[in-house]
Amino acid sequence: MELPKKFIDSLISLPEMDLAAFLRVHAAGEKVTSLRINPNKIKERDTTEKILGELATNGYSRVPWTTDGYYLAERPSFTFDPYFHAGAYYVQEASSMFLEQVLRQACDLTAPLRVLDLCAAPGGKSTLLQSLISPESLLVSNEVIKTRAALLGDNITKWGAANVVVTNNDPRDFGRLPGFFDVMVVDAPCSGSGLFRREPEAISEWSEENVILCSQRQQRILADALPALKAGGILVYATCSYSRAEDEEIMDWLQANFDLENIPVPLQADWHIVKTAAEGYRFYPDKVQGEGFFITCFRRKSGEEYSAKKQRDTLTAVTKKDREKVVPWLQNSEGIYMMEHQGEVLLLPEMMQSAVSVLQQHLYLRKAGVRAGQLAAKELIPDHQLAMSPLVAGNVQKVELTREQALKYLRKEDPDVTVALKGWALMQYGGMSLGWAKVLPNRINNYYPKELRILKEIQA
Ligand code: SAM
Repeated sequence: MELPKKFIDSLISLPEMDLAAFLRVHAAGEKVTSLRINPNKIKERDTTEKILGELATNGYSRVPWTTDGYYLAERPSFTFDPYFHAGAYYVQEASSMFLEQVLRQACDLTAPLRVLDLCAAPGGKSTLLQSLISPESLLVSNEVIKTRAALLGDNITKWGAANVVVTNNDPRDFGRLPGFFDVMVVDAPCSGSGLFRREPEAISEWSEENVILCSQRQQRILADALPALKAGGILVYATCSYSRAEDEEIMDWLQANFDLENIPVPLQADWHIVKTAAEGYRFYPDKVQGEGFFITCFRRKSGEEYSAKKQRDTLTAVTKKDREKVVPWLQNSEGIYMMEHQGEVLLLPEMMQSAVSVLQQHLYLRKAGVRAGQLAAKELIPDHQLAMSPLVAGNVQKVELTREQALKYLRKEDPDVTVALKGWALMQYGGMSLGWAKVLPNRINNYYPKELRILKEIQA
């Protein structure tokens, strides 16, 4: 792995940089694999151990700064693990999971919070944020690039939580919501040097000019979105770049231009995370088991508070008759607002109703809550989002598949299973739902979404 000379020169003066060790670790090309277990779906320690045991045949260990993160000794094929498709875990780079420490330090996570993840695709930070906030909180997970917003939506569906809205907006659109959010996470697009070890093809794209362009774009994104953070609200800024222009210099720029207080995050010595002169945190791959990362946190001292007076309810509730079609599909319909949208029913926690109404007036909503299904004349045709959500009733019919059958189902083939039941049923693996099928007298109709199906062939 050949690193550009100008890039190496730019590293020399970085805080606590051990250049020889840094270059050694890049030359070795070791790849660290880590994932985070989904606490929405996995409550028992035994289940975590079962899943990790099947996946990590050479062993696994804890990521020290996060509750549900694990390193795997070797990278398995996630595509061919049915648990991956069931949303049992999210494959995430370990350094990024430090966001948990930052939030625990800066916020009361038991409070009902409105959280914005501004640059969210493919969803690593959003799925972590969702696991950290209370069920009464709302996460707005935004991605500006349309195709990436679709991928983000799919990953949020798999994660299964109802208190998330996925939007597809430019950061400047959030200026329409002054003081709306309690927490804003900006995991900014950057020059990406922190991921060179994992994505060597990115090395050739690195240049000093690109670092400057990225830094200017980061300032633009922050300046556009910051008005949406309320007074007292928390801003988390992160990059996967080592460049000062994208890290410490952005911190300086933020403090020079906005009324922000930098918040310290306590570190344990054995984490080997480097603190900068101010309260910024650097992750070097020769010191931590993870990739290059930078994170810092601020409290906004002054600013607007969103005025509730500006709100008017624009959502359409489903009729009582249609509600009756949905209720049998739900574990518990109490506290669930059912919204009708183009013949479909969306499930939102009741406390989200007014916030979603506001968001709908100002932003492009790609996904809101959990889609229960389509209203037909006599019944509800259940949606994949409902299959993936813990809101689905415990007493719906289920079919437990073997690994081989599960992979067939996930390819959208006939899972080749004989069952005594008929009608809608959840296809499961290890007790976790993969999607719907409709069992007919002589065949099974596979309702797994076509766009999600596994296309890759198993390598012999
Ligand atoms: N937070 C994500 C995660 O943990 O999975 C990773 C985000 S990635 C570092 C940065 C994201 O910013 C990308 O998805 C990219 O498409 C998006 N992006 C690119 N240009 C942008 C812009 N001008 N404004 C906002 N976001 C942008």
